[in-house]
Amino acid sequence: MKVQILDKNDVSVRLLIEGSNAAFMNALRRIIISEVPTMAVDDVVIIENSSALQDEFLAHRIGLMPLKTDLDTYNLPENCACKSEFGCNLCRASLILDVEAENHTITTYSGDFKSENPSITPVSEKIPLAKLAPSQKIRLEAYARLGKGKEHARWQPVSMCAYKYMPIITVNTKLCDLCGDCIKMCPRNILVKKGEKLEVRNTTDCTICQDCVDACQKTPKAIEVKWDENTFIFRLESTGALTPKRIVSEALNILDEKLTDLQSQLKGK
Ligand code: SF4
Ligand code: SF4
Ligand SMILES: [Zn+2]
Repeated sequence: MKVQILDKNDVSVRLLIEGSNAAFMNALRRIIISEVPTMAVDDVVIIENSSALQDEFLAHRIGLMPLKTDLDTYNLPENCACKSEFGCNLCRASLILDVEAENHTITTYSGDFKSENPSITPVSEKIPLAKLAPSQKIRLEAYARLGKGKEHARWQPVSMCAYKYMPIITVNTKLCDLCGDCIKMCPRNILVKKGEKLEVRNTTDCTICQDCVDACQKTPKAIEVKWDENTFIFRLESTGALTPKRIVSEALNILDEKLTDLQSQLKGK
């Protein structure tokens, strides 16, 4: 298998993976979505809430707030030595929200939370939680823990994770008269007229929709769009809880553990 990074930044990555198959790509995608743990608020103790939002609604919003995750320090509650339903410093982090609107209406944001652990904070300080009219207040304690996307979407490390086959676009220059119909039809601007040639650019952006082929009036078609069944473009966008690199490497470790477990169980039979 050959892997090339097509582009990456702090929260997303696009990989070109050659020499693989759809089953492996899908296993990787599903493990990323459902098994790579992240930190999220699981329990909220509301001490005071005089805002217009009901307690449950407020707790739900806080639960969906992505938190920076420290996988090296924290344990999943089910694996923690404390075995306590209240958790300990190694499986639970608490965050406090204490806000009050004095003379004018304010919006309280994720950045208003004070965390007991500075490495477990909201990934963005600008997630609006509630509006408070003058003299309204919210005081609460939120408890975050590691969890997995298969329990609830709030623990998913990604906002998007998908793959597609690598497109192969070929133009038959003998049949093509440069009419431009396919150029107008392509939603991704993959096809351009350059001199006396129809040029294909940014092939990895092609969605394999076949609209260009349908638009071509020639018989047989002067353009053909196929795909390579062993080459994939794999994209993921992190919620910010973990880096894209850490998400992929954790998913591969989990897959490896599952296969090792399967192998040892088969040997035991
Ligand atoms: S298959 Fe769709 S996206 Fe790809 S080149 Fe043709 S029209 Fe554009
Ligand atoms: S529609 Fe067909 S003939 Fe016209 S430019 Fe595209 S490939 Fe060439
Ligand atoms: Zn614990």
